[in-house]
Amino acid sequence: MMTLSASLLLLLLLGLSQAHPLQEEGVEEDTVDITTRILTSNNATNEILLEGDLLAPRTRNAMMCWSQSCLWKKASNGYVMIPFTMSNEFTGWEKQKIDSAMRSFHSSTCIRFVPRQNEYDYISIENRGGCFSALGREGGRQVLSLNRQGCLYHGIIQHEINHALGFQHEQTRSDRDYYVKINWENIDPQMAYNFYRESTNNLNTPYDYSSIMHYGRTAFSIQYGMETITPIPDPNVQIGQRQGMSYWDIRRINTLYGC
Ligand SMILES: [Zn+2]
Repeated sequence: MMTLSASLLLLLLLGLSQAHPLQEEGVEEDTVDITTRILTSNNATNEILLEGDLLAPRTRNAMMCWSQSCLWKKASNGYVMIPFTMSNEFTGWEKQKIDSAMRSFHSSTCIRFVPRQNEYDYISIENRGGCFSALGREGGRQVLSLNRQGCLYHGIIQHEINHALGFQHEQTRSDRDYYVKINWENIDPQMAYNFYRESTNNLNTPYDYSSIMHYGRTAFSIQYGMETITPIPDPNVQIGQRQGMSYWDIRRINTLYGC
C-alpha cells in the first residue's frame, strides 16, 4: 500500500528544503504560533514529512488512519496503554518536560504512557531533526521526534502525541471549507499538498479553531507573513494556538478511544 512514487518523494524533499522562511531572531516564545515553530524546526530535516510534521508512512496511506488497525489498544483495565522509550540524548530537565506533557493526557483521558518493557508496538521518543510523528499506531517501533533545540514546548509535545494517537491537522478536515479559506495563491506551489482536504472522521465534534492541531495563518506561505489560512466568516478568529489541548482536542481523544 506504500505507493508514493520516487518522483513524489523527490518533490516532497525539494519542497521541504525550502519549506519556510526562518524565524526572526529574538522573537519571544509567546509571539510564535505552534505551527510556525514546528515548521521552522523541521526546515533542515532529512525525514520525509507530510503536512510539515507527519512521517510518510511505511505501510499505509497516512490519510486513512481511522480504522481500528491504527489505534492503540485498550487494555482490560480500561486504559489505553502506550509503551514508550525516551532517548538518552535528552537531559533530565528535557525528560521532565516530555513527562509532563504525557501526564497531561493521563489527567484528561484514558491514555496512559508506560515505559516499554518488551511490547512490540511502541513510541520511540528521539532527538531527531525536527518535530514530527507517525500518524496513529504504525506497528512495531515508531519514532516521535522532538528536536532538543526547537520542539521541547508543552504544546508541541502534545501536538506530536496527538498525531501518534491518530489525529490529523484540523485544517485538513473534510468539512474545513465551511470554516477556513485556503489562500492557494499565497502558498508555495510545492507545498500545496499540505492543504489538501482529507476524508477524516470528525467524531461528531465541531470544527475547532482553537485546536492544538490547527495550523497558524501563515503556514507554508510563499513569502514570509503572507496569510495562507483565513477563518471564515470572521477572519479575526485566532488559529494556530500553542498553549495546550483545547476542550475539543480532549473530547476527541476520549471519543476515539472510548474512554
Ligand atoms: Zn502536525
